[in-house]
Amino acid sequence: MSPIYNFSAGPAVLPEAVLREVRDELLDWGGSGMSVMEMSHRGKEFVSIAEAAEADLRELLNVPEDYKVLFLQGGASGQFSAIPLNLLGESASADYVVTGSWGKKAVKEAGKYVQARVVAQPAGAFTQIPPREEWDLSADAGYVHVTPNETIEGVEYHDTPDVGDVPLIGDFSSTLLSRPIDVRRWGVIYAGAQKNIGPAGLTIVIVREDLLGRARGTCPSVLNWADQAAADSMLNTPPCFTWYVAGKVFAWLKAQGGLPAMAAINERKAAALYQAIDSSDFYANPVDPVARSWMNVPFTLANPELDGEFLAQAKQAGLLTLKGHRSVGGMRASIYNAMPEAGVQALIDFMADFERRHG
Ligand SMILES: *Cc1c(COP(=O)(O)O)cnc(C)c1O
Repeated sequence: MSPIYNFSAGPAVLPEAVLREVRDELLDWGGSGMSVMEMSHRGKEFVSIAEAAEADLRELLNVPEDYKVLFLQGGASGQFSAIPLNLLGESASADYVVTGSWGKKAVKEAGKYVQARVVAQPAGAFTQIPPREEWDLSADAGYVHVTPNETIEGVEYHDTPDVGDVPLIGDFSSTLLSRPIDVRRWGVIYAGAQKNIGPAGLTIVIVREDLLGRARGTCPSVLNWADQAAADSMLNTPPCFTWYVAGKVFAWLKAQGGLPAMAAINERKAAALYQAIDSSDFYANPVDPVARSWMNVPFTLANPELDGEFLAQAKQAGLLTLKGHRSVGGMRASIYNAMPEAGVQALIDFMADFERRHG
């Protein structure tokens, strides 16, 4: 049987080695006689799992001492609210650069709590990142929010924008751990786990300590970064099992050579797929080449009537979940860390074969 490759945008593929380890430990973790699912989050077994995961994540991302790393629930969408509630009062304002669907949602949610201003957004479809010179940043903004990788449109920043002394906040949901980043450039980094980190249910927040302690009184405690930091992310029951699996992914990433090694592989995978799309008139990707995502690659067929056939045959060939987001149409291949290069090559080969038969 040929291997199965899952191109889902999220929840998404996990390293097979991690799944096997989880299977082997499922009934009895470390001779404890308990599954991780059954453990008290305050017991010494789970605390050791939690601490090892945090230490590995800090090492992978080179997180400075004066940043807290939180393991929370509520998804990236929960952080859309947590950000204004932790940082600003009601009369304050914040700047949002919108380069895709998730950024739009972040603005809408923040608008419930602060004045959320869109300071840059492409005029038409989301296919580019407005040049930094054109951002209309406000003098009094409490923070600037960007989405480093827009998962639906496949639009990614390949460098960190300079916004001066205003805290820069990034929704890294679909790109965290795909390459090294300079954490120091960011005030807050956050990500739902289910794209490139682990199973659904865990939200990672990395926050500079001087931004703690500013929350409004009405901020829910579970979303309050300072309260959660003081409680080691255990103000209430944390997402224990997901935290454990994410920890296994961190250890796996370290064994692959860390983020520089992953970046080299991810860049290669993306380049090969975009090259296959660009070299054919049968397939197209609309994104400005300098803003193309390494993680999510949307593409369309010249004849959309063939979409259904493409997806059905891809599935037959073991290439799963390639349907594009309903708002964009066409196809989308999500090629996160856990997608092997052989999976991308199998997709490229299938695309060429499909074109030969239908082009
Ligand atoms: C998936 C995604 C979200 C939403 O994440 P949830 O964890 O489901 O709330 C937000 N932002 C980006 C960039 C995403 O890819």
